[in-house]
Amino acid sequence: MTVQTILTAPNPLLKRSAKQVVDVHLVQDLIADMLETLYDTPHGVGLAAMQIGRLESVIVIDISPNRDAPLVLINPELILGEGQVTSEEGCLSLPNFNAYAKRYAEVEVMGLDVRGQPLHFEAAGFLAIVLQHEMDHLRGVILSDHAEPLVPLHIGQSASKLS
Ligand code: ZN
Repeated sequence: MTVQTILTAPNPLLKRSAKQVVDVHLVQDLIADMLETLYDTPHGVGLAAMQIGRLESVIVIDISPNRDAPLVLINPELILGEGQVTSEEGCLSLPNFNAYAKRYAEVEVMGLDVRGQPLHFEAAGFLAIVLQHEMDHLRGVILSDHAEPLVPLHIGQSASKLS
């Protein structure tokens, strides 16, 4: 496992789209590096592969207080979004930059876990926001691009703003 350098904007790699992972065995070292790199940052809660210069569709997230509960998602897909929140976010690829982004309040996500087993779950609150932020990276969207209006994937009830 190696702590990798986190790419910062305007590195063109951050604008690329990720490629689907076909064999999860081939991304195990990448995942280990991503987690090590995430935990090496003081406050990072998520990382997408392209932030360390790789184009595989992999994100890692850990929002636990002790940073000991990693969520690894391979080929994640947002299949449903409901409600809206405006969240203030930072990004490891945009040092010293915070922005407000409109996000779905609740999401439904599918993907593969670190062993290649299918995952399908719903998330709300901070986890939902982090998932959307990291999945944005996989399609070349970074926080500073977030000027576009959010179109609900599903007509849901509006959610209250996050504090
Ligand atoms: Zn980011």
